[in-house]
Amino acid sequence: MKEETDILIVGAGLTGLALAAALSGSRLRVTLLDARVEPVAAGFAVKSSRGFRLKSGIAARVSTVNPGAKKFLTRIGAWNRIAPDRISTFKKMHVWDGRGTSHIEFGDNGASALGDIVENQLLEAALIETVAVAGNIRLEWQAKLSEANRVEAGYEVQLDDGRYFNCSLLVGADGGNSRVRELCSIRSIGWPYDQVALVTTVETEYAHESVARQCFTGNGPLAFLPLVDAYLCSIVWSVQDATDLMALANKDFCELLTRSIEHRLGSVRSTDKRFTFPLIHQHALQYVASHVALIGDAAHLIHPLAGQGANLGFADAKTLAQVLAGARLEGRSPGDLVLLKQYQRQRRLENIVMGSVMEAFKRIYSLDNPGINWLRNTGMRFVNNNDTLKSLITRLVAAD
Ligand SMILES: Cc1cc2nc3c(=O)[nH]c(=O)nc-3n(C[C@H](O)[C@H](O)[C@H](O)COP(=O)(O)OP(=O)(O)OC[C@H]3O[C@@H](n4cnc5c(N)ncnc54)[C@H](O)[C@@H]3O)c2cc1C
Repeated sequence: MKEETDILIVGAGLTGLALAAALSGSRLRVTLLDARVEPVAAGFAVKSSRGFRLKSGIAARVSTVNPGAKKFLTRIGAWNRIAPDRISTFKKMHVWDGRGTSHIEFGDNGASALGDIVENQLLEAALIETVAVAGNIRLEWQAKLSEANRVEAGYEVQLDDGRYFNCSLLVGADGGNSRVRELCSIRSIGWPYDQVALVTTVETEYAHESVARQCFTGNGPLAFLPLVDAYLCSIVWSVQDATDLMALANKDFCELLTRSIEHRLGSVRSTDKRFTFPLIHQHALQYVASHVALIGDAAHLIHPLAGQGANLGFADAKTLAQVLAGARLEGRSPGDLVLLKQYQRQRRLENIVMGSVMEAFKRIYSLDNPGINWLRNTGMRFVNNNDTLKSLITRLVAAD
């Protein structure tokens, strides 16, 4: 038997969930499928400051949520479901070149928030709760898309458990290896960064004072993101080869981190379990085709050095939901290509610009010769002394 739905979203990661939540109450029948087992959000409380033993506490994957994405998540009813004491707001960011003397300080007046740092699993849990109370959305776990065939009114989709769905719009929110993208023959261009991101949580000697720090080390960009506990940071270190770093004993790893971040937080006292994630740059040549749309990592994968991937995915979800709401009012099919192209037009340029900026940063900071070092440092000094340029960059990243 075939099940009927207006919109079938494949992938209940952050962006698929956000799109579904944004469509709640829209009178469109929305089905959201994910191949994963239902994630269980950990309900543990963060223990307070010093002496905190890292094993357990905070999940390794966190996201920096920019003010624009926070506004969207608040409007769709997800943000307020996250306990406020699990959200770390930062108003300042220090960026510097580990092979030079220059730096850039963002938010020096400390007036407005530059972003919030939240564990991915808490963001996901908030979105799942939002979706669960919506009458028009059905969410299914352990439901894997295997085939999709174009039919007159949209797509006929098959799951690997043998079930079929008919939908007017098929949305690929299924990540970098998108099966929807592949089945709908949407080409993408991309290349590996030859870097992996090493991620963990560390405890430091000095309080982070809610400042996000990023040092471009000779090994690659190293971010210390302030967590809700004043002495805990989430680190993301993008390196060419993490084998040696993963093999280091905890004590040696902490010492290396202390040196690499130039003792700015005193010594790194302890570390949690380390994880690595391969990094690739990828962009779909089209985000839409007749009765299909791609959002989030399925459409674009960028380097995480500015923490923007999920933020771009949220902006995709927001825009597509707006376009679909407009279609319903006009009595048009959600799979109408003319309509879907509005979504593509509104999102593609920003995503390409952000992806290209990350690519440029990654390349410039991978080079190590005196001329390039001088240029990098001169450029950084110029930006730091130019308030207009700094606020422009802040506005671009904040997407408010
Ligand atoms: C180290 C690191 C740090 C980062 N930090 C930040 C940050 O600070 N801020 C930020 O904005 N971004 C950050 N990002 C990027 C961000 O994590 C991603 O952009 C975002 O999680 C992508 O979400 P998504 O929902 O598009 O895709 P995914 O998270 O990949 O979700 C895809 C979902 O689709 C499901 N799926 C796949 N195939 C199928 C199928 N055939 N059938 C059914 N389901 C399927 C999967 O199970 C999965 O749940 C970071 C990335 C990395 C690697």
